[in-house]
Amino acid sequence: MARGLHLAKATNDNAFGSFRTYLAYKLKERGGKLIAIDKWYPSSKTCRHCGYIKNDLSLSDRVWVCPECGCIIDRDVNAAINIKKEGLKVVS
Ligand SMILES: [Zn+2]
Repeated sequence: MARGLHLAKATNDNAFGSFRTYLAYKLKERGGKLIAIDKWYPSSKTCRHCGYIKNDLSLSDRVWVCPECGCIIDRDVNAAINIKKEGLKVVS
């Protein structure tokens, strides 16, 4: 539906914003806190081991192969680890 109305980005941004607000509310209710990292943080492009940033990484690259340290890992797992590390920097 969002695509048909040419409002896909705005609709999806609004849906994510609502989800984020609800998540923050529920975490606060339970004594937790939502930690958000910079939306431009290159979590997929950064090597989780050495910090090398691969600027030419494309969406079709599903496996992360670091040209610096040789680390080989699933792209999404690499990004998830980087997001966790970045979030822990905010907490500590
Ligand atoms: Zn590396």
